[in-house]
Amino acid sequence: MDKIQLKALAKVNLGLDVLRRREDGYHEVKMIMQTINLYDELEIRKVKQPGIQVKTNLYYLPTNENNLVYKAAKLLADEFQIPDGICIHLQKKIPVAAGMAGGSSDGAAVLWGLNQMYGLGLSRRGLMERGVRLGADVPYCVLRGTALAEGIGEKLRTLPSMPKCYLLIAKPGISVSTRAVYENLHANDLKPEQHPDVDAMIDALEKKDLGLLSAHMGNVLEEVTIPAHPVIREIKKCMMEAGALGALMSGSGPTVFGVFENQTKARKAFRAVKVSRLAKQVYLTVPYNVIPLWDQDTDREG
Ligand code: ATP
Repeated sequence: MDKIQLKALAKVNLGLDVLRRREDGYHEVKMIMQTINLYDELEIRKVKQPGIQVKTNLYYLPTNENNLVYKAAKLLADEFQIPDGICIHLQKKIPVAAGMAGGSSDGAAVLWGLNQMYGLGLSRRGLMERGVRLGADVPYCVLRGTALAEGIGEKLRTLPSMPKCYLLIAKPGISVSTRAVYENLHANDLKPEQHPDVDAMIDALEKKDLGLLSAHMGNVLEEVTIPAHPVIREIKKCMMEAGALGALMSGSGPTVFGVFENQTKARKAFRAVKVSRLAKQVYLTVPYNVIPLWDQDTDREG
């Protein structure tokens, strides 16, 4: 196999709680992750020129070791002494620095792609263990689907799929630093009522109750990001007024997603958000729960 083409799917957080800040500075989280049908496209090719080359359509993204696709390729190339040069072409569609795990998903796709291309025999778990060295969200991006993430995000449990619905995604034209949001949270001083009820959301997923799920959606990081960027509150309001069952900021923001039970309402809301000019990027999509890529999982390495 000389080349492989891959989709790297984005996620939203249906729920995001921060339980505490650990002594070492990491935050313990309890999040419900949901893969959505919005993706970057990658092509990985073997080339004569030695080393790793990254090419992308976004001029402002790094193409050196600061890009997660580079880091992922280097990790496996070093460990398995891959002799060829590797060229990765990355076509970004997932909004950048948006709370949608775009970079993490690209990194996960490269781990998966090189495992296939070179027959490295790594199991899904083997890829997830390597992925956490690249970032806390990378193991989830290897797993995908609907999942509970605990620890720093690396302890994962697959949950029942999100019920069928439509998701409206809107990113205002601002960037948010994930690190700064966590630093400004003061996680250990949060009052009990500030924590979203993630267990109630799991219960709603088990009951396949979209209304109940939407009613319990919550993201503790809104406490930090919304006061700094009130446009997020305005987008949420716009979606709710247009008929969303629920609307929430994803990750550390600033992207907002709205949940709609049918396409007619979702399309109406799409137009309302567009007309409002509150968001720079607006997409209408669906949860992505079919994960055929992993069906032939091998298990040579644990
Ligand atoms: P998360 O949801 O995990 O917080 P995010 O979606 O908010 O992630 P990314 O889009 O992954 O954030 O990008 C954050 C920063 O990482 C960018 O500013 C960019 O410079 C850097 N970066 C490195 N590799 C990539 C990549 N492949 N795609 C996008 N950004 C990347």
